[in-house]
Amino acid sequence: MDFDLSEELLELQKAVRKLSQDKVKPRAREIDTSHEYPQDIFDAFKQADLLGLCIPTEFGGSGAGILGLTIAIEEVAKYSNTAALMLLLTRLPTGPVMIAGSLEQKEKYLRGIAEGTSRAAFGLSEPQAGSDVMGMVTKAVPDPDQDGGWILNGTKCWMSGVAQANWYTIFAKTADITSRKHDSITAFIVERDFEGVSVGRIDKKMGVKGVDTGELILDNVRVPKENVIGEVGGFRLAMLGLNSMRPIVAARGIGLAEGAIMYATEYSQQRTAFNMPISDNQGIRWEIAKLGVEIEAARLLTYRAADWADKGRFTKEWVPFLSMAKYYATELAVKASSLALQMLGAAGYMEEHMTELYYRDAKQLTIVEGTSQIQLGLIAKGILDRDLWWD
Ligand SMILES: Cc1cc2nc3c(=O)[nH]c(=O)nc-3n(C[C@H](O)[C@H](O)[C@H](O)COP(=O)(O)OP(=O)(O)OC[C@H]3O[C@@H](n4cnc5c(N)ncnc54)[C@H](O)[C@@H]3O)c2cc1C
Repeated sequence: MDFDLSEELLELQKAVRKLSQDKVKPRAREIDTSHEYPQDIFDAFKQADLLGLCIPTEFGGSGAGILGLTIAIEEVAKYSNTAALMLLLTRLPTGPVMIAGSLEQKEKYLRGIAEGTSRAAFGLSEPQAGSDVMGMVTKAVPDPDQDGGWILNGTKCWMSGVAQANWYTIFAKTADITSRKHDSITAFIVERDFEGVSVGRIDKKMGVKGVDTGELILDNVRVPKENVIGEVGGFRLAMLGLNSMRPIVAARGIGLAEGAIMYATEYSQQRTAFNMPISDNQGIRWEIAKLGVEIEAARLLTYRAADWADKGRFTKEWVPFLSMAKYYATELAVKASSLALQMLGAAGYMEEHMTELYYRDAKQLTIVEGTSQIQLGLIAKGILDRDLWWD
């Protein structure tokens, strides 16, 4: 067992830490206030070759894998969860293509992501079907005019990066829409320029502003057979993709918790009350210590999950370990940002400080890509099924 990162990963961590301090940190507040997509940050990621971290070298990426991307996202999320989301979006929609896509799909769609010439988004959720994925009603029917092609109709919602994306990974029912059978859902690559594709309502959200979240409307969209990802009826792909994402979304939580606690600790050493720095109070010191313990516990869970995911261990039997990382790290982000804000008192509530931004940004992490309750359900199932057992 080796708890040390490789030389390459240490180099990556160092480089992304510097980039985050130089380019991301000074922009975080402005992005939140303007709500504008930070193209300059995207360009900085592109220049530093970070957009292809999780993409194999044969398709233009750097092959740093899920662990590499996890480490990079942790650094970026110390200052901006919007910027961290931009990196996450290099994996969420490309995951199913990497897991089950054809060689042609990989060549056509992954290279652009790695090189920063295209962007993608992931369409699973619908207004009536978030946690309950099988409740989706977006429908795909065989196209009578196109051998093996499909016609898609429906509306996806809450899609991160929907407005900026050039292509989408979309899940639709290829059987009756009332069917709850796993082989009733199929994944498709839908290009933004396909006729009938349009971006609908953009959400007004609480945090992580700058990368839009909103609807994608599919109105009689003709999708060629080459754009079916994996097999027709391959719903399992959605779950495999999400399983392999757990450490990556966990990294957004860990980085945020680290950023918040570093910010509040520095403040607590400068702020005096009752003639001493507030950091001299045991009540403050113990909170800092307890968060330090939890951050390191979350990092261990997450790095292990990332390492395992890179080894292909994201099938059913590994689910509880992956879900633990997502659950623990994202709940920690909420807790750490709340405690950090409290440590600053009134100042922490004001926009002059980063704490209120950390606090607003943290909350989405316990909802996206499987809520905390869904993760707990998966962990419990793993234990009850003996996938996780200590005997
Ligand atoms: C900022 C943001 C970005 C997002 N980006 C994307 C994206 O890019 N692509 C995409 O497809 N989706 C995206 N989503 C949607 C997200 O995946 C869903 O919000 C999430 O899956 C939960 O679904 P829901 O909101 O419909 O909640 P519901 O499923 O309606 O759940 C409501 C509440 O009930 C609880 N609950 C539901 N079922 C159970 C259960 N079995 N046991 C216990 N509790 C349960 C949930 O935990 C939650 O607390 C995004 C959401 C947000 C907020």
